[in-house]
Amino acid sequence: MLGLVYDGEKAEIRDDLAVRAPGPTEVKVRLVAAGLCHSDLSVIDGVIPWNVPCVLGHEGAGVVAEVGEAVTHVAPGDHVVLHTLAFCGLCKHCVTGRPAHCRKSMGNASQPFMLGGEPAWNFAGASFFSEYSVVQANQCVKIPEDIDLSVACLIGCGVLTGIGSVWNRTDLGLGDTCVVIGVGGVGLNVIQGARAKGAGRIIAVDTLAEKEPFARDFGATDFICSTPDLDLPARVREMVPFDGPATTAPNTGPFGAGGVDYVFECVGHPALLQAALDMLDWGGTAVAVGVPAPTTTVDTRVTLLTHVERNLTGSRAGSHRPQKDIPLIVDMYRRGIIKLDELVSARYPLTEWRRAADDLHDGKLARGVLQISEP
Ligand SMILES: [Zn+2]
Ligand SMILES: [Zn+2]
Repeated sequence: MLGLVYDGEKAEIRDDLAVRAPGPTEVKVRLVAAGLCHSDLSVIDGVIPWNVPCVLGHEGAGVVAEVGEAVTHVAPGDHVVLHTLAFCGLCKHCVTGRPAHCRKSMGNASQPFMLGGEPAWNFAGASFFSEYSVVQANQCVKIPEDIDLSVACLIGCGVLTGIGSVWNRTDLGLGDTCVVIGVGGVGLNVIQGARAKGAGRIIAVDTLAEKEPFARDFGATDFICSTPDLDLPARVREMVPFDGPATTAPNTGPFGAGGVDYVFECVGHPALLQAALDMLDWGGTAVAVGVPAPTTTVDTRVTLLTHVERNLTGSRAGSHRPQKDIPLIVDMYRRGIIKLDELVSARYPLTEWRRAADDLHDGKLARGVLQISEP
């Protein structure tokens, strides 16, 4: 079968790939479509170190081909959205509704594939740029058959990462204000996640002016085209000024006044995360959503935390609860509250993945979808 393999030096489509049969608690899925996410390219670029050779792709949807004997919630022929969170279901984090904290859900490296007769690694417990893959049963969430799999495939990573960072990592509610830095496949989902929760002001920030209509379409109320000389925190404070009762110095002082309740940093750049803390109102929360290189650090004044209770937190893949959040997103999509179709900028055959990667690098795509087989 065909699959996109990274061997430590180059990524290429190989036709000498095979995958083993599912174990008792596993499912073999025929992939129909998979989104190309930055994390796949980060493996190729060396930003995410991984075992090689490995089969890439981690945001997919397909049709169940075969199930292990202990699997009861899906059956061959079912349409499924796949995700990478292969949680155990038994640990304290799983049973308290935080599967993203389950130790079993991180890494998940195994060798279900054979490449030219030698064992090959999966990626993120997923490997969806392949005609077939084998995953843990709880990585499969059944969806109705009338939902286009080439749209639904995006839910498993980009959509959940963006929407989940709002829904599961903050208390953002009616009328709250936020800034979303980076209007890509994840940022657009942060924006629509915030709109769905009733945010009063959603300020999107990107370096490309042509992102503005997309951002507004997904719910942004304002757009800042960021340039290297722009003082972004100052600009945000101008747009969301202090509006409380006047004091001796309402708009001055070492901690600033005004600012937003939440900032979502979707680029993964330390300077932007630092700026995020500076554009918060007192008590506001900056959420690190974008993933930089593993050793990246951020410097901050501790008094921003101790004196005005700003918060800095992170979000792992939107801290999602897959069996709850995926059906919810599908339902909200059906009701027109969540946009999915508009996220698909282009579709490519699997063999043309390189063109999709180039388009993603050039900032042309919300998401590029690789078509792997017929539904
Ligand atoms: Zn991803
Ligand atoms: Zn667990």
